[in-house]
Amino acid sequence: MEMDNVAVASQIRPANLESFIGQRQIVKNLNVYLEAALIRDEPLDHIVFYGPPGLGKTTLARILADTQKANFHSISAPNLQRPGDIAKIVTSLGKKDILFIDEIHRLPAPVEEMLYTVMEDRKIEITLSEGMASSPVQIDLPPFTIVGATTRLGALSSPLRDRFGIQFALDYYDMEELVAIILRSAQIWNISMEEVTALEIARRSRGTPRIANHLLRRIWDFAIVENKNNHNIHLDNVLVDQSCRKMGIDPNGITQREIRMMKSIAEDHHGGPVGLKPLASLMSEDMINLEESIEPYLVRIGLIRRTPRGRVLSEKGFQYLGIQPFAGLFRVEETQ
Ligand code: ADP
Repeated sequence: MEMDNVAVASQIRPANLESFIGQRQIVKNLNVYLEAALIRDEPLDHIVFYGPPGLGKTTLARILADTQKANFHSISAPNLQRPGDIAKIVTSLGKKDILFIDEIHRLPAPVEEMLYTVMEDRKIEITLSEGMASSPVQIDLPPFTIVGATTRLGALSSPLRDRFGIQFALDYYDMEELVAIILRSAQIWNISMEEVTALEIARRSRGTPRIANHLLRRIWDFAIVENKNNHNIHLDNVLVDQSCRKMGIDPNGITQREIRMMKSIAEDHHGGPVGLKPLASLMSEDMINLEESIEPYLVRIGLIRRTPRGRVLSEKGFQYLGIQPFAGLFRVEETQ
């Protein structure tokens, strides 16, 4: 039977905290808070998870709902346009339900204000209008939990942030954890592979489970198509390397667009510093894209640096490109 992406993703989503790999401190504490909530027969306090995309924020929120045998409701903050939108959702929730609000730093102000009383007093004031008269009524809400997720905790207003009794920062995963995640997914998808090959994929996964799973799936696509008549395909390091090259992903998980950015700084701007704006226009890239999706990984692994005067290619960055960092005088060598 053909499965869509959602079905494929839900197969590998850990169903409980025991099968959630990594983020050990968070998992440990969540277990305590869950147990305490159970003993007190109260809902969990409101929780905010923050960290880069693909690290497991949504997965953890789902696990919290499943563990408490409660419902999981998910909404993205930009879709909550009016206070009425949030009123409609919270009045339909049940005891211990989890309301997951993704990108919570992007809540429109009137919605955010309404959320304050929802979170603090578990009440909501709505205005009923009948004919000419309209009167505000206060409704008690069931004891549910709001789980917010954001990539930028700093972008949250402090009144909102303070209303989350539990705050967790998710970290990038180390190689060992990524290998475990990849082997687990491989087992679920019936992909035959050794640990050394899982490590090759982990190296290209940028510390991120979502990328690890996507890579595994895509490499498997290449393997299946190239071995059509073979029913016992074994994924090996050569297959990983070849398919990643075809996808434009290098052995460190760096993509072609990221390499272009480094080359532009090196070759068009003598290694920088160069402002994001001229860089973006030269590369015909959107400035936001450059800042939010292309440069962060390069900054994280130290290939480029952000300085007050602009972006600079680091020595490691020059080394990566095989270019000598002498001002104005470049010796370009083959990178492969
Ligand atoms: P986020 O909400 O932080 O963007 P998700 O929860 O959507 O991330 O996770 C992205 C993908 O990675 C999902 O398919 C999920 O199953 C998988 N994943 C995330 N964390 C883990 C983990 N610790 N163990 C196994 N799989 C994980």
